Amino acid sequence: MEKEKPVAGPLDAILRPVAVAPCSSDTHTSHGGSGDQKNLILGHEAIGEVVEVGELVTRFKPGDIVVVPCCTPDWLATDLQSNKYNAHDHGLMASFKFLLSKDGVFAEFFHVNQADANLVKLPEGMDMAAALMTVDMMSTGFFGVEQAEVEFGDTVVVIGIGPVGLMAVAGAHLKGAGRLIAVGTRPNSVAVAKEFGATDIISYKDGDIVEQILKLTNGKGVDRVIVAGGKTDTINQALQLLRPGGIVSNMNFFDATETFEIPAWDWGLGMSNKDIRGGFCPGGARRIEKMLEMIQYNRFDPAKLITHRFDGFDKIEDAFKLMDEKPADLIKPAVFIKWD
Ligand code: NDP
Ligand code: ZN
Repeated sequence: MEKEKPVAGPLDAILRPVAVAPCSSDTHTSHGGSGDQKNLILGHEAIGEVVEVGELVTRFKPGDIVVVPCCTPDWLATDLQSNKYNAHDHGLMASFKFLLSKDGVFAEFFHVNQADANLVKLPEGMDMAAALMTVDMMSTGFFGVEQAEVEFGDTVVVIGIGPVGLMAVAGAHLKGAGRLIAVGTRPNSVAVAKEFGATDIISYKDGDIVEQILKLTNGKGVDRVIVAGGKTDTINQALQLLRPGGIVSNMNFFDATETFEIPAWDWGLGMSNKDIRGGFCPGGARRIEKMLEMIQYNRFDPAKLITHRFDGFDKIEDAFKLMDEKPADLIKPAVFIKWD
């Protein structure tokens, strides 16, 4: 679609994309999962080249190559002062501006609010593909681990090993999980899960995962469950797997039409000290700087998620369709763009 070039306010920047990746949240939105959105440009995972900055921007200039967090908070919002989760600057997920309140990054030009607080220069020599995986996948998957408060030696289950779940596997491993059980079937994902530290793989296609995991743990269950796949009843399964005192950390995006039905027994009659937590990844420059440092200092390589690479702006549609269809050999597609 044709749209006017966006305009930068005094604190903002206009970028053009040099690397982008489609996400499940883009395909979900295109199918109406985020409500009735019309004429919206999708895309929220990007590395960009700065083409214009507002008069008050001090850290960036045209020509800089920058990493763009998927979540770009309004740092002047007073809501952030009483809320440690910066995803909610003006209400539910309001910092997730690209899909929810403005056009996204699958465009010749896109707008970033408060550039100084939200953008990070691509570190010299860093693999662009790896950096691209920090802006949503790594920030989200690692948030799932932070929210789960994984402790040394914990038995952790990650349900779903698409790109988000795989990042949670990597994050839980780095946080010192003992046994790390991953649930999924796609062969590429299974291979990367093992590489990222999974000790056991369970297929939900081989029968009830609760039965399988309880058997694996001699009926004891697990300390933490991170949910990055499945449906609303996956939360019930997670509760059934948890030992008292455990935490379910949800990453799934549910539809507004869905309902959770939790039998009291699954939640230990309300007396089990089992937390059900759901949250959205934080954003902003410092968050992404930290993610980039983990790559710089070789903690692990998130570029292993990228199974399909495309070149050129015109290929964004192909990459998007691939993400929508999710063929068995896909983990994550990415598109690299050179401008003349
Ligand atoms: P994928 O669709 O790529 O992966 C889903 C995974 O769940 C796959 O491993 C799949 O298995 C597995 N799965 C499917 N059905 C079941 C089931 N019944 N029981 C157990 N496992 C199952 O998703 P993504 O990794 O891209 O995203 C995961 C979730 O995170 C989505 O809901 C997405 O909307 C949300 N999300 C949230 C974000 C945020 O908070 N910022 C950002 C991005 C995504 P198989 O291997 O067989 O395919
Ligand atoms: Zn996303």
